[in-house]
Amino acid sequence: MSRKRKQNFDSLVQRVLLELPVEVCSRLEEVPIVVSGQPTAKMLEDCGRAGVQTAYGLVYGLAIHRPAIGVPMHIRLFRKPILRHPKRDKLKVIRDILLHELGHLYGLTCSELLAYGV
Ligand SMILES: [Zn+2]
Repeated sequence: MSRKRKQNFDSLVQRVLLELPVEVCSRLEEVPIVVSGQPTAKMLEDCGRAGVQTAYGLVYGLAIHRPAIGVPMHIRLFRKPILRHPKRDKLKVIRDILLHELGHLYGLTCSELLAYGV
């Protein structure tokens, strides 16, 4: 993927962050967001998602993810799966993924978050 496409993706993430409510942004100030191409098997394993086909985002550093203990808390977004997401509105896709991963920081499970629509 070209440098320009990576920069375009980063600017989409920036736009999403600027449009999030202030309360959400203040929590994100404590949790860095890192963009990667796509998840590796190790990343999935570290976040308790071993064996899943792919992921759009992961949150690192939660106490329940014992293998990742020692890794500083952060949210990782995966550019390639997000760009392949069937929804065309990538701003909404990125926003929903960020809200989903943030929800994990508040102790909500995947199924609870999916029930809320993120
Ligand atoms: Zn989840």
